[in-house]
Amino acid sequence: MGILEVKGVNKRFGGLQALGDVNLSVAENTVHAIIGPNGAGKSTLLNCLVGKLIPDTGSVMFDGQSVLGRKPFEINQMGISRVFQTPEIFGDLSVLENMMIPCFAKRDGAFELNAIPSVASQKDVLEKAEAMLVDMNMADKRHMNAASMSRGDKRRLEIGMCLSQEPRLLLLDEPTAGMARADTNNTIDLLKQIKDERDITIAIIEHDMHVVFSLSERITVLAQGTPLVEDTPENIKGHPKVREAYLGE
Ligand code: ADP
Ligand code: MG
Repeated sequence: MGILEVKGVNKRFGGLQALGDVNLSVAENTVHAIIGPNGAGKSTLLNCLVGKLIPDTGSVMFDGQSVLGRKPFEINQMGISRVFQTPEIFGDLSVLENMMIPCFAKRDGAFELNAIPSVASQKDVLEKAEAMLVDMNMADKRHMNAASMSRGDKRRLEIGMCLSQEPRLLLLDEPTAGMARADTNNTIDLLKQIKDERDITIAIIEHDMHVVFSLSERITVLAQGTPLVEDTPENIKGHPKVREAYLGE
């Protein structure tokens, strides 16, 4: 049994079958990539895991508990944290203030943005946020305005913000999209570091095959809303069906 078990998930948007009978099992403490052409249903599947969309049929179990019918924040509290396709940080705040937000949320179960200045003196949150910035190798940037950072650093901050919620499953939707090669490589190194240092399962949707093959232990290929094949990176590389559907050969 995987930490994440998706069974028979279907999702329609009007006449369009975005997901058709999706089965997916993600083993604990592995990195599992989901790849496939544009429009294959990857983001839709991810949205079904975090409560942003509700499948028409099927089940989604996380650590033996159903996530269906739960709100996104409840699923987050169950231990699933998600990195969005576009970095979701507060551009007006400093890097450290950004990092404090999920630390407050983790501690208090909720977060009020206007409460930041008055509680900034609260030592435990500050210490936790500082420690996470050290882990993310960005302690030197803590007083920078978050908006002024490079795309790679914004992504690094956002991943750190997710990790400070101490998730057991981290979901990433195309984390390197739109990045220059140097930032992409930094993101690969960061994810490798996270995988090595933490008890965490990572499911990553990714378009860049260099990222996929650098990180993942299992790969599921989605095509037209249905898993085409699931295998190790070695086997996926040479798979004729994958070359046809994904690489357009
Ligand atoms: P991917 O992430 O693999 O590129 P998506 O999951 O975003 O694919 O989309 C799968 C299909 O569902 C696409 O044809 C897309 O246009 C469609 N789709 C996604 N979200 C919606 C929505 N909210 N309403 C209608 N159609 C949608
Ligand atoms: Mg997508």
